[in-house]
Amino acid sequence: MSMKDECGVFGVFGNKDAAKLCYLGLYALQHRGQESSGIVSSKDDKFYVVKDMGLVADVFDADSLAYLQGSNAVGHVRYSTTGSSNPNNIQPLYSKTSKGKFAIAHNGNLTNAYKLYHELKASGSLFQSTVDSEVILHLIAKSKSKSILQAVKDTLAEIEGAYSLAIMGEGFLIAARDPSGFRPLVLGKLKDSFIISSETCALDLIGAEYIREVAPSEIVLIDKDGIHSHQSTQKPKPSYCIFEHVYFSRPDSIVYGETVHRVRKEFGKILAEEYPVEADMVMAIPDSGNSAALGYAEASGIPFEIGMTRNHYVGRTFIQPSQQIRDFGVKVKLNPIREVLKGKDVIVVDDSLVRGTTAKQRVQAIRASGARSIHLRISSPPIRFPCHFGIDTPEQDKLIAYNKSVNEIKEFVGADSLGYLSLEGMLKAVKTIEPKKFCTACFSGNYPIKVENIGKYSLEGKNIEIYDQKKRKKQTK
Ligand code: AMP
Repeated sequence: MSMKDECGVFGVFGNKDAAKLCYLGLYALQHRGQESSGIVSSKDDKFYVVKDMGLVADVFDADSLAYLQGSNAVGHVRYSTTGSSNPNNIQPLYSKTSKGKFAIAHNGNLTNAYKLYHELKASGSLFQSTVDSEVILHLIAKSKSKSILQAVKDTLAEIEGAYSLAIMGEGFLIAARDPSGFRPLVLGKLKDSFIISSETCALDLIGAEYIREVAPSEIVLIDKDGIHSHQSTQKPKPSYCIFEHVYFSRPDSIVYGETVHRVRKEFGKILAEEYPVEADMVMAIPDSGNSAALGYAEASGIPFEIGMTRNHYVGRTFIQPSQQIRDFGVKVKLNPIREVLKGKDVIVVDDSLVRGTTAKQRVQAIRASGARSIHLRISSPPIRFPCHFGIDTPEQDKLIAYNKSVNEIKEFVGADSLGYLSLEGMLKAVKTIEPKKFCTACFSGNYPIKVENIGKYSLEGKNIEIYDQKKRKKQTK
């Protein structure tokens, strides 16, 4: 199982254009995963599958969408991971079981998948992939309960960690969310059909109405009689991922009841109060820093400027020029505007530093364009801990804030000053959710569910590294 499973899920029930809508939904969720895309549709008891490595636009065409028959569909986009491009891992996963056919799309990481995998394997389950999500498929198949709903309940009682799920069976669609509600999941309606989506921006694209979020521990069953809400056997204990607001979700989505852009702008405003500095202009690292930079500018009264432009058409790889061009890989994506920057004292806002390499390159490029001073402002606290619940953070020792103090980071990136938004400031910015209902583990190290013995592993058991929270915490002191 890859621990780098940032994903987007989408489902359509009861629409003759199910696959096409699913395709559009995935298009809007592309930011949640660029490694692979897939749709499984169903017509009565027949399932149709199209999935491949690549972006939604590359995987599907008119022919493949026409092939995906039926009025129900589930789709999935998966995040790009380094070196684990295994076509067997492309979701949705599907299977033929004694309870009929199923296809599942999963966003999140199961923290006990390795243990369950071994138990299932010992009792005869044959695994096709190395993704944790396959454990869910086997558990549903093996459940002794005849009713689908009960089989799903039995399964959710076994799995731990983060899951926002869209499950399609013969004649029904299920949306389910883990008790912590780590990853977002919403319900929508398009005329008589129902939609499940990771984010509301995908509802907007297809003209669907946003109904509500799927609640933590909720299982929503959608069939020809409509929507039925059930509870899993686990008590809900909300611990929503704050990083969805920081970086991961799209600014036009409503996440945990609030528009992401507004929250990010608020992060920027609070950051301006916490780390003021005199300067000529505020600029963002586009696009991730845009909303927070606007907020910073608004609160500080310093004008917002476009200091860099982004090339939106850069693919994942490009042919390098034969002659060495300095910082080609950086420049091809973002290019500073010299005229704007020359001789200026500049506040540069970005959402987060992970390894710190992007910021270092951007600061260098801005300086090379003639900026007099560069004040880097980050609209989230230092990331010091890895995420086990579905955000792709590298191993702890690769996190720049784990290894370096804020002053050392400032030196590393080459900025004249550096200010990170405080944890309290970040939590204050979100109006709809009480601070204690957020997972802030990547910043604070406070993991809301037990994380001892979480392996960084694949299901084959390669590269097992047991995460020891206590030891790591001690090391950071
Ligand atoms: P780094 O060079 O590793 O410090 O990358 C940090 C940049 O990557 C930030 O500007 C973010 O916009 C973006 N980022 C933050 N978290 C993630 C993530 N989990 N996956 C992909 N990109 C991210």
